[in-house]
Amino acid sequence: MKAKVEGLIEDYIADFSKTSAISWGKPHTGYARADDPLFARLKEIVRPSHELPRDFLDEARTVITYFLPFLEEVVESNKEGRYSSRLWGIAYIETNRLINEMNKYLKNELIKMGYQAAYVPATHNFDEEALMSDWSHRSAAYIAGVGTFGLNHMLITESGCCGRIGSLITDLEVEPTPRYGRELCLYRADGSCGQCVKRCVNDALHFEGLDRHRCYKMLLENGERLSDLESLADVCGKCLVDVPCSTGIPRPEE
Ligand code: SF4
Ligand code: SF4
Repeated sequence: MKAKVEGLIEDYIADFSKTSAISWGKPHTGYARADDPLFARLKEIVRPSHELPRDFLDEARTVITYFLPFLEEVVESNKEGRYSSRLWGIAYIETNRLINEMNKYLKNELIKMGYQAAYVPATHNFDEEALMSDWSHRSAAYIAGVGTFGLNHMLITESGCCGRIGSLITDLEVEPTPRYGRELCLYRADGSCGQCVKRCVNDALHFEGLDRHRCYKMLLENGERLSDLESLADVCGKCLVDVPCSTGIPRPEE
């Protein structure tokens, strides 16, 4: 069944890319048990209102998550300057559109196969004061073995951290994906690197943590600059590009 699900995802992306302004690299899909105790811990780690897979689907058995990597040209386009590139903004909007449309498609395909499914929108119940959502796609993808967290608060995957994550909850039962047994972020592994902190353009990312309000201010500034795009591009991503974990698993310096 995993091969079937992954085939559906890859075929959908290939079709979607034909009419989209951008395309994507090979997706990385991971599976978590819906009753994995780490989901309940997100209420302590992320926020008390963080939802559980069973809040979306009573009979939830599996959380399917996938990372959609941006192509090199998108990553390159965002390296220079203080403000996000137009292409980075387009990639954000198009990837959210892809996630929302593909999740509807996957849900229908699972129903046709006799399963139930519920999808979580690309941004779910975003709290504009706390600047957090009630479902963290990144945390779900971490639990589902897609990657590990970087100092830049992004998920570092086999294809790096430049991309976006989608999630789907189903009563289909499959073997969970094993999680990485090590930290992929160099700083978290051995205290080295820290390049993402140096790249932050609004003094929001520090070794001690992320100032969400300073970061969000920058996202809105970019959203304003890119306001002619078809929807809000509240993006930045400067701490994701031109760093060792941008497009692959970072390697320690020899
Ligand atoms: S740039 Fe370095 S420290 Fe920052 S998330 Fe990537 S690997 Fe970790
Ligand atoms: S997204 Fe931009 S403002 Fe936010 S932490 Fe990264 S570089 Fe800083």
